[in-house]
Amino acid sequence: MPAKAVIQVVLLGSRWRGNGAPARDKGHFSLGSGAEDLKSCQPEVVRIEKMFDWMIVGAGFTGATLAEQIASQLNQTVMVVERRDHIGGNAYDYLDEHGILVHKYGPHIFHTNSSQVWDYLSRFTDWLPYNHHVLAVIDGKKIPLPFNLNSLHALFPHHTARRLETLLLERFDEGVHVPILELRASNMNGDLGFLADFIYEKVFYSYTLKQWELTPDELDPSVTARVPVRIGRDNRYFLDRYQAMPKHGYTEMFRKMLSHPNIEVVLNTDYTEIIDVVKFNRMIYTGEIDAFCGFVYGELPYRSMHFEFKHIRRGAYQEVAQVNYPNDHDFTRITEFKHMTAQQASATTIAVDYPRPCRRGRDDPHYPIPMPENQDLYNRYLKETHRINGNVLFAGRLADYKYYNMDEAVRRALDLFETKVAASAHAGSDSTGRLRFRSHPIIQHQPLFPGQCNTVERPVQIMAECG
Ligand SMILES: Cc1cc2nc3c(=O)[nH]c(=O)nc-3n(C[C@H](O)[C@H](O)[C@H](O)COP(=O)(O)OP(=O)(O)OC[C@H]3O[C@@H](n4cnc5c(N)ncnc54)[C@H](O)[C@@H]3O)c2cc1C
Repeated sequence: MPAKAVIQVVLLGSRWRGNGAPARDKGHFSLGSGAEDLKSCQPEVVRIEKMFDWMIVGAGFTGATLAEQIASQLNQTVMVVERRDHIGGNAYDYLDEHGILVHKYGPHIFHTNSSQVWDYLSRFTDWLPYNHHVLAVIDGKKIPLPFNLNSLHALFPHHTARRLETLLLERFDEGVHVPILELRASNMNGDLGFLADFIYEKVFYSYTLKQWELTPDELDPSVTARVPVRIGRDNRYFLDRYQAMPKHGYTEMFRKMLSHPNIEVVLNTDYTEIIDVVKFNRMIYTGEIDAFCGFVYGELPYRSMHFEFKHIRRGAYQEVAQVNYPNDHDFTRITEFKHMTAQQASATTIAVDYPRPCRRGRDDPHYPIPMPENQDLYNRYLKETHRINGNVLFAGRLADYKYYNMDEAVRRALDLFETKVAASAHAGSDSTGRLRFRSHPIIQHQPLFPGQCNTVERPVQIMAECG
């Protein structure tokens, strides 16, 4: 007989009594009411008899936005199921053992041109204005990225830099952004041709090889175009209208988004573990689309990252939040979080990023690899999910197999809410409480514990009323 599963249900809604907003005084952060505190709660064992209008798989930006909208705009109930031990998806941040606020899955800098997304998130957080600055170590010198006219001057002797700058400004309008592959393809001779090759080799080539194990030419051009060459002097990494960090961190912002009486959050639980014991009408799935379909066509490839955190007993480690190492070392970049969070402390924590292949089930799938054959494979899965006939909605970076910035993930979720969720809210649901896709020939969820059937009830630990 398999042991009975224990599922932690963490309530962030009305039944959750947290410690209120986190303190952020004099360099001391406290995410007082976050999931960390819940670990000390004594669970109370109850059964979930409740019928939920929605089950949402994943508590990242996509899942949290949709849950919040469904709960607040439609007054419908949502169970958010998250397999990690925290909310926030990849944007999760926490205080490390030295009290420094760090980002578990790599540095996350919020930037957007969308006032709709900005206004929406501003309901759940105040902001710290922050402009991200990145340096790259090239030939022993630190130069600003994206490569711009200031980078020229940081790299080359004054006269050479002036000549190259004049040539660039004769050829391009001041302020334009030129993707490196376009710059190289524009058949520039002489000094400009040399410059294009120099930037390609020193800034892009080795970095891309480390990050993706592919050359820039092998990847979809959109990847290198994310960091174009700038014919200007603005050193800011992003130029969006809104650039800021959530004042009390991402996790606290997520906690507020999910703190609605209609929302219950289940942590440490893959949705397949509870799909047979929780009653709900419809599902939104923000996990990997190939996993949902049982990998019937094989795995969609991802790149993963290993983040090595180091605590350093001095006030600051480097000049800016991010320093890239395109040509030296196995790692790609070092992030120092205090630059981003404005935290005052006598010591600091950095993260060193080591890219690596993603071994599914062992590594986090971080970046979809945008190549035509992978897109074809994704399209096959997408077609498969169409056969479920709308009972499950798919969204987010894993379900769409697409790199989204955080604002794009929110935008996608808000759009999905308007076009599919709200529109169909009163159009009728599956009154049996059972998903119709169960009878689908290919997409079948294997019971986690063989031998158990749908009617078996498993004890569910609800952590509530702690605080
Ligand atoms: C290294 C790195 C750095 C980044 N930096 C930035 C940045 O600076 N600025 C920016 O705008 N964007 C950045 N991003 C992008 C940002 O992380 C995404 O936009 C965001 O994570 C998208 O949110 P999501 O909800 O779609 O996905 P996620 O955040 O991945 O959330 C999906 C959640 O679903 C859960 N899940 C999956 N399958 C299951 C299952 N079967 N059962 C239960 N739960 C499941 C996962 O555990 C996960 O928590 C970065 C991404 C990476 C990888």
